[in-house]
Amino acid sequence: MDKSKRFTTGEIIKRENITHDLWKIWLKIDEKFTFDPGQYCTVGYEGIERPYSIASSPEEDLVELFIELVPEPDGILTPLLYNLYEGEKVTLRKRAKGLFKFQNDFENQIMLTTVTGIAPIVSMMRSNNLDKSKHNIWIYEGASYIDEFGYLEELIGLSNNNKNINFVPTCSRPDDPKNRDWNGMTGRVNDIFFDVFKDINDANKDNTIIYACGHPEMVSDIAEKYSEKYTFIEEKFWTA
Ligand SMILES: Cc1cc2nc3c(=O)[nH]c(=O)nc-3n(C[C@H](O)[C@H](O)[C@H](O)COP(=O)(O)OP(=O)(O)OC[C@H]3O[C@@H](n4cnc5c(N)ncnc54)[C@H](O)[C@@H]3O)c2cc1C
Repeated sequence: MDKSKRFTTGEIIKRENITHDLWKIWLKIDEKFTFDPGQYCTVGYEGIERPYSIASSPEEDLVELFIELVPEPDGILTPLLYNLYEGEKVTLRKRAKGLFKFQNDFENQIMLTTVTGIAPIVSMMRSNNLDKSKHNIWIYEGASYIDEFGYLEELIGLSNNNKNINFVPTCSRPDDPKNRDWNGMTGRVNDIFFDVFKDINDANKDNTIIYACGHPEMVSDIAEKYSEKYTFIEEKFWTA
């Protein structure tokens, strides 16, 4: 098959380093690129391709990604992407993919994420084409270190400005000196969201959905505990 039919090009227009191993890039795509909030794109460089959830909303001009470095020798694409700055180009499959999308039918939306797993949720929250006003939304984000919360200010602002949206970042290593300034929630994300279920009891199970995205152990743990009782969708970023 003619490669040009499947691939397009994304130019890095902006890059922001978040920590020594986390960064964001904004891509200008060569041609019209459509996706639904929550979906992922397939990025390639030197013929190596990996999926990345899109953090921007479809209404934005640039496609924003939030990436974690997996150092060599394990990581293959991320050590290459890590060295790319403004002006450099990656390939993109023309079609975005994924079923991890906002499910409008559920009044209660519980979204559990770790570090880069927040990306598809940010896309959903930014998109004006999704009406979130009639939903109760809880966004939980877990990280070992507080500087790994890539969208902290944006999501705190969203939560402060919308009574129906609650953002709960939680730090799993509160005793580490790097986290000494943290006075928010502590613990692993899969252990701390149970207070939500004080309000969501069995009577609500038909109008409640749980999303889990990011670290495979967190996702598996939540799936094991809740997927039989509640509608559940997941996106594991790698296999444990
Ligand atoms: C649907 C989907 C969406 C994704 N979205 C994102 C995203 O938004 N941001 C992002 O950074 N990554 C995302 N990933 C992971 C991404 O596709 C790559 O696997 C990752 O960037 C590592 O690529 P690599 O080529 O360097 O290493 P790989 O060759 O992909 O992986 C090397 C090894 O590291 C493991 N691994 C992969 N990622 C991690 C990690 N973060 N921490 C620890 N071990 C890991 C793999 O299981 C494998 O054993 C997503 C994956 C999927 C399936």
